[in-house]
This record gives sequence, C-alpha cells and structure tokens, in this order.
Amino acid sequence: MQEEQGHTYARRARRASMNILRQLYVVFGVGAVLATLFTAWTPLGLIPSGLAQQFTDLLGSSSSNNSAFPTATARPRPRIGIVAGHWGNDSGAVCNDTGLTEVELNLDVATRVKEKLTAEGFDVDLLQEFDDQLEGYQALALVSIHADTCQFIDNNATGFKLAAALASARPERANRLLACVRSRYEATTGLRDHSGSATAHMSSYHAFNEVHTDTTAVIIEAGFMNLDRQILTQQPDLIAEGIAQGVLCYIYNEDASPVEAE
Ligand SMILES: [Zn+2]
Repeated sequence: MQEEQGHTYARRARRASMNILRQLYVVFGVGAVLATLFTAWTPLGLIPSGLAQQFTDLLGSSSSNNSAFPTATARPRPRIGIVAGHWGNDSGAVCNDTGLTEVELNLDVATRVKEKLTAEGFDVDLLQEFDDQLEGYQALALVSIHADTCQFIDNNATGFKLAAALASARPERANRLLACVRSRYEATTGLRDHSGSATAHMSSYHAFNEVHTDTTAVIIEAGFMNLDRQILTQQPDLIAEGIAQGVLCYIYNEDASPVEAE
C-alpha cells in the first residue's frame, strides 16, 4: 500500500510536470501566433492610429534618408530619336492645289510620336532633317518620318514605305525594327506596305550613315500625299500611334509578325 501510494505520487508528479510543459507550449505557441499577427497587421490599425502614424512617419523618414545615398541618382532614361523629315531644311513634297507641305505633316506626326513615347517613359529627341545631334547619335532606335509625293502617279500609289539602316553594326536589329513598324503601322492605320517601290534613295538615307553604328534606324514614308491625303491630314494621331507602337514592339521584343487590321 505504502509502496503503491509512493508510486502513485510519483506518477502524479510526473503527470503534473507534463501538464505544466504542455501549458507552456500553448502559451508560447499562442504568443508566437499573436506576435506574428501583430507584426503583420500593425499598419492596418491593430494599434492606435496615432502610433500607426508615427510608424508610417518613421518608415517615410527612413526611406527619405535612403534617398541621400548615391544610388538614388536618377539614371538616364532610354533614348529614342524621331526625325521630322525636312524640318529645319526644306518643305519636302508640296501639293499644288492647297499648298500642303510634307514638312508640316512630318512635324505634326513626329511631335505626336514623341509625346506618346515620352508617356511610355523614354527620353525622346525630336530631330531636324540635318540635325547637328545626328552625328554619332546614340539611341535604342531612330525613326525618320516622311511622306510621299503629292503628284498623282496611278491608283496604286497608296500606302507606306519602309527602309532600314542595314549597314549598321546589327542589321538583324534594323530588320526587326522594320518588321515591327510594318506590322503595327499596317494594323493601326489600315494602310498597306508599298515598300516594293522603296527607292534606293530611302535605303541610302543620309542619317543612316551619320548615327552611331549601334543605333537601330529606319525611315518611313507614312503615306502618299495624294491618295492617302485624308488619313495623313485628318488622322495624324493614328499615323503617330502606328509608328509609336512599332517602336515599342521593337524595344519590348514583341512578336513582329503581321497583325491583321480590325
Ligand atoms: Zn521626304
């Protein structure tokens, strides 16, 4: 009996200590969970708003302290060059009936392309036909914007023409930029590629030999001022959108296969 009692006491004592351990586990466990929740939810308002505000202020001031480090210096944004054909030099093609000039169309479209690409986060230079900056010009891409003659040639003289600077260091890039502009311009404007008639004068465009050899460059004749006059004069934003989308297709490495017009 005595022995049995002693045994029972020992068991009880063991059981009691086990219970204490179990309770400790529970306490620590709940504490850990609460601590996690508290940490995770603190900004959401589990603490008084005044304290939360101090917290936010502290975070704010610590991040503004970070801006004092040299890494905060703004990196130059990627550059794109847009040449407004004939701008600063001559009128380009002229329509004898209304006096419409190619240079005014080119400058309007080029300005809109610049606005669109600037809105996408690029540094865009609007360049004159014989701009001093063209010599050794370095950019992700350069597009020179022109329009075709206002003379009536025949009923096939409609659509756009493209030529790439294939003598550059990376002709495959020039071909990709060309394919991108063709695909997006066609889909956006509904105009057809008329490059079969691209003149040698286009592929030996003067700026192609002036820009840095790493700069991918193309020239576009956006349309004929005779048969395509309506879209060129009435929807310059659509013309600009097609060109801007073509440049973005190239820069973002998008699929350059032809996109069907809607
Ligand atoms: Zn021109």
